[in-house]
Amino acid sequence: MPAITAALTDTTAADAAHEALMHALARQRPVLLTQDHRAADGRPGRFWGTRPIGMAEMQAAADRFTRFRPVLQRLFPELQASGGVIESPLQPVPALQRQLGLDAAHGALFVKADHGLPVAGSIKARGGLHEVLEFAERLARQLGLVSGGDLSPLAGAAAHRAFADYQVAVGSTGNLGLSIGVIASALGFRAVVHMSADAKEWKKQRLRRRGVTVVEHVGDYAAAVAAGRREAESDPRAHFVDDEDSLSLFLGYSAAALHLREQLAAAGRPVDAAHPLFVYIPCGVGGAPGGIAFGLALLFGPHVHCFFAEPTASPCFLLALQRDDGHVPSVYELGLDNRTEADGLAVPRASERAVQVVRPSLGGVFTVADETLFRHLARARQAEGLRIEPSAAAGFDGPGRLLHTAEGQRYLHRHQLTAQMPQATHVVWTTGGLFVPDEEYERFLARGLRATG
Ligand SMILES: *Cc1c(COP(=O)(O)O)cnc(C)c1O
Repeated sequence: MPAITAALTDTTAADAAHEALMHALARQRPVLLTQDHRAADGRPGRFWGTRPIGMAEMQAAADRFTRFRPVLQRLFPELQASGGVIESPLQPVPALQRQLGLDAAHGALFVKADHGLPVAGSIKARGGLHEVLEFAERLARQLGLVSGGDLSPLAGAAAHRAFADYQVAVGSTGNLGLSIGVIASALGFRAVVHMSADAKEWKKQRLRRRGVTVVEHVGDYAAAVAAGRREAESDPRAHFVDDEDSLSLFLGYSAAALHLREQLAAAGRPVDAAHPLFVYIPCGVGGAPGGIAFGLALLFGPHVHCFFAEPTASPCFLLALQRDDGHVPSVYELGLDNRTEADGLAVPRASERAVQVVRPSLGGVFTVADETLFRHLARARQAEGLRIEPSAAAGFDGPGRLLHTAEGQRYLHRHQLTAQMPQATHVVWTTGGLFVPDEEYERFLARGLRATG
């Protein structure tokens, strides 16, 4: 066949595949999209907007958490035992592995247990804390509250009095608000969390108990964010945390990669050409999974394969990856309603910058129906005693999608991974749950048990 005809045929086939994908997304059918264009060396993008980012920026975020340990230890009694370290275990989950239909020939399954992260109760403890700590550190130096590397005065009364003149604000469906509100108020800032009116009542209550001002907005998450941003912009003593566009959040999340590398080594799980690493992370706007995928790609290059998990009602990151013209579409454009019980992932539009950084290295994205989330939530409890929220259950669908679907198998063949699967490590990132009230959790569990049958 002449080359020109071949190219035309390919284009037609690609168009048809794209069409079929859009159709499936619009019908809320679960899909897996693997990335044909993943870079051979697995390297992530090097820019956040126009700002170069890489290993040094990730390390700086990790160092900031280290510097703040004495402060965090004094502000939060629950961090006494860890010495101010906010981290989660990497735990083997053999019973769950069997239940998910993965045998030893598929590798070994682990959970990265961010659902139990102290202080914020979700993965937002990483990004959210980092951004507020960065703001506090910069301000403290400007105001002469600290000098050199000793930040311990920031746990004291003088710093609190000084910070009380400043506001930290955020717009959030819930978990980011919890994280920012709690750390900002603990440091003495006036904390304001803008929420959509349909945000969970217990989250609003939890914040108000801590002295955080909760402002409720009619409309969706994007509207709440816009309102918060407008209000903070008019106040020179206000810092607004912008979930869609924050490098500080992103780098805070990325630092998790450095810790995971240590944990994998301690668990005797090498990551190299013979031992691939697969990581499945729930995705909302893309900051948390994007930061982690960025960090892991810097550390492990072609040997790590990250997959993001989105609700079928809110596949915003998957949609954004479909475009290479800079337009970041909203799920509403597909006729989807962005209504899901996975409230941590109910985001209509992905972060453009996160998409830009992650695109070259990401393995793919899959979508999960709400009923499946509840099934995984119940299984995680029954098999391993894990208490997670619906958003945090999305990753559990990943290994099966990769191993037991045609699209997943194509990915493994394309990257010549099939022979190495017995030595593979699968990490499912469970992203939240600690502070879900018992009553609400029992409802989730009952729904999951019904769905499991
Ligand atoms: C926020 C959140 C995520 C995803 O983070 P994004 O930065 O929005 O992509 C995942 N799980 C839970 C529980 C969350 O709260």
